Amino acid sequence: MRFDVVSVFPGMFEPLLNFGVVGRAIAGGLLEVRLHDLREFAHDRHRQVDDMAYGGGPGMVLKPEPIFEAVDAIKPENPGPVILLEPWGEPFTQALARELAGEPGVTLVCGRYEGIDDRVREGLAAREVSIGDYVLTGGELPAMVVIDAVARLRPGVLGEPESLDRDSFTADLVGYPQYTRPAEFRGLKVPEVLLSGNHRSIEAWRRQEAARRTKARVAGRTSARSGKS
Ligand code: SAM
Repeated sequence: MRFDVVSVFPGMFEPLLNFGVVGRAIAGGLLEVRLHDLREFAHDRHRQVDDMAYGGGPGMVLKPEPIFEAVDAIKPENPGPVILLEPWGEPFTQALARELAGEPGVTLVCGRYEGIDDRVREGLAAREVSIGDYVLTGGELPAMVVIDAVARLRPGVLGEPESLDRDSFTADLVGYPQYTRPAEFRGLKVPEVLLSGNHRSIEAWRRQEAARRTKARVAGRTSARSGKS
C-alpha cells in the first residue's frame, strides 16, 4: 500500500517512518510512504503556499494552486482517495481505518495555519477526516495517526495478525486487561485465572472483562455528555 503525504513540514514524518511496526513495514516493502513538500509546488520567488483570508480575520489560509498541483502530480501513481485532515471532518475510527486499508493507496493533505482553501475539498472531491474534537497546529500528527492505524491492518504488517481480531473496536467489545510478569508487583496481583493454564476459563474471563470495560466506557461517555460526574 502506498501513502502520499502533502505537507509544509515533511520532515516531521521521519520518526514515524523509521521506527517500530511502520518502520519495519516500509523496510520490508509492505508499505510505501512518499513525502511531498508543498513548497515544491509553489512557483513564486518566495515559494508562498499561504495567503490572507478573503473577508479578513487573523491568520493565513493554504492556497489552492500548490495543493491541486501536488495532487495532480501524485494521482497517476496513487489512484486512492484524497483525504484532507481537518478538525471538523468525519471522525477517524477503526471502521474508517479498515476501509482505507482496503485501498491501494491514500493521499493525505496536511493543513496548517487557519486551514485549507475550501475549493480544494470541492475541486479534488476530497474526504475530510478529523482525529478528534480538538484543534492541533497542523495536519501532520493526524496524518501520522491515519498512516499508523491503517498500516497495522495491512496483511503481513503485524508479526501476529491474530492480535487484530482481539483489538478494541474490531468486534463490538473493547480489549480485555493484559498482564505480564511478575505475577505480583507492589502488592498488585495478576488475576488468578490467568495463571491457571485453563484456556476455557481464561477466554471466559477475558470476554467478561472486555464486556465490563465496554460497558464502563459507554457509561462514562453518557455521563460526560449529560454533564454528570
Ligand atoms: N481554523 C481551523 C478551525 O477553526 O477548525 C483550525 C485550523 S488548524 C490550526 C490547522 C490545521 O491543523 C488544519 O487545517 C488541519 O489540517 C489540522 N488539524 C488540526 N486539528 C485537527 C484535527 N483534530 N483533526 C485533523 N486535522 C487537524
